[in-house]
Amino acid sequence: MTNGMVIIGAGECGGRAALALRDLGYDGPVTLVGDEPHLPYERPPLSKEAMASDAPVIKAIASDEILAERSIRHIHSVQAVAIDRAAHLVRLSDGSDLPYDKLLLATGSTPRKLPMPGLGPRCVYLRTFNDALAIRAHLSARNRIAIVGGGFIGLELAAAARRLGAAVTVIEAQPRILMRGVPAEIAKVIHEAHEAEGVKILCGDGIAAIADDGAEVRIALAGGLDIVADLAVIGIGAVPVIGLAAEAGLTIDNGIAVDAGLRTGDPAIFAAGDCCSFPLAVYGGRRVRLEAWRNAQEQGALAARNMLGAGESHAAVPWFWSDQYGLTLQISGLSDEGRSTVRRDLDDGAFILFHLAEDGRLVAASGIGPGNTVARDIRLAEMLIAKRAKPAPEALGSQTVKLKSLLAA
Ligand code: FAD
Ligand code: NAP
Repeated sequence: MTNGMVIIGAGECGGRAALALRDLGYDGPVTLVGDEPHLPYERPPLSKEAMASDAPVIKAIASDEILAERSIRHIHSVQAVAIDRAAHLVRLSDGSDLPYDKLLLATGSTPRKLPMPGLGPRCVYLRTFNDALAIRAHLSARNRIAIVGGGFIGLELAAAARRLGAAVTVIEAQPRILMRGVPAEIAKVIHEAHEAEGVKILCGDGIAAIADDGAEVRIALAGGLDIVADLAVIGIGAVPVIGLAAEAGLTIDNGIAVDAGLRTGDPAIFAAGDCCSFPLAVYGGRRVRLEAWRNAQEQGALAARNMLGAGESHAAVPWFWSDQYGLTLQISGLSDEGRSTVRRDLDDGAFILFHLAEDGRLVAASGIGPGNTVARDIRLAEMLIAKRAKPAPEALGSQTVKLKSLLAA
């Protein structure tokens, strides 16, 4: 009798891993443990489509019927509180023990908390569907929304709130929005789009004090400005959920440290998705932690294959997107690996920046434009990055040279 596969964290990565185990023909027990009360669901819509709807609904990764059909046991509203590695057991918050043959930690990440006194019920974070419902209830033409952090959560939410007519102020401590990971040229386009839609963006000013009396929030900026809002949404980054792994004595290095096959130091335990750091082959084994939807999917599937003994390594090029108003931003690769940039202009004001390493290798591509305008070229750039190609900068910058032809070369 086998104990089977246990997955902790019923999010993007955990949900995909459970389904992948069945796709791969595994017929032993599969148990998915999640501390949220919902089916495994997609988070990207929470700051986008969910905010546009009067009654947001969950976009489930798998329905109850599919989980039942595939004999995936989903234990919800229960937290895994300890791992007994010697006994191959996970202790759950309801007091029960769950034995495993192989264990996958897919515990994700959680909002970084603003370390200040004065926060109260009108100061909120966005990570879960329940968070989204609470925020949505405050978005209307009558409301004033303050957003702390000019990152993805903050800006996507600002766009959604403006669409509903709310008055929106974004407070970013850095000199510009999207300081990390998004080139200044692209951040400028996004900044201007927000200002054109009526969002007030305040950069380079820290928060001196916050006072939340339960009805409204007063944010005093170090520069002397006072922002008063009905709701303050704090989006200042995310931190990996590592407590369970750390307590169990697994190595932590900016997340649960795994090898290229997503294995921890314990051969029976894997980690994947937002919670883990891993060596990225395309960049010479540089250890990274990615907080992105496609990575969570890919790693969930890879973890499943390796739990069944495939012995594969993670080889994907990082990729993510963000939608704000009619604009879509897409970035593939790690732009901080680049030393020079080449710009290619596309139709409708869209453009792509190609990031080249010192030796001329294409290491990343960042694009922005209306709708899907950059999608195809970013996909081709991703293939060039995976090939470790060194395309001629003039060819990358030329609108008449097709990227596909560079791939063939
Ligand atoms: P999660 O989805 O966070 O799932 C982890 C789950 O594990 C959670 O349900 C958590 O509660 C649970 N858990 C943790 N510890 C325990 C425990 N001890 N016991 C039981 N359960 C536990 N990425 C993009 O690329 N593009 C986007 O446009 C985009 N938009 C986003 C919008 C929002 C609002 C958010 C929050 C994220 C967005 N992302 C986006 C990021 C993407 O959703 C994440 O990278 C992805 O969800 C990570 O998947 P995961 O399974 O690793 O973690
Ligand atoms: P983020 O993109 O890392 O942005 C956080 C921003 O807040 C950064 O610009 C950060 O600046 C700034 N900040 C930090 N401390 C601050 C402070 N005290 N005052 C004001 N600004 C401060 O993180 P996020 O937007 O909070 O997103 C959280 C998670 O959701 C991440 O996992 C993200 O990937 C995910 N998400 C992704 C998408 C997408 O990919 N489209 C959309 C929504 C959410 P520093 O650089 O100085 O820290």
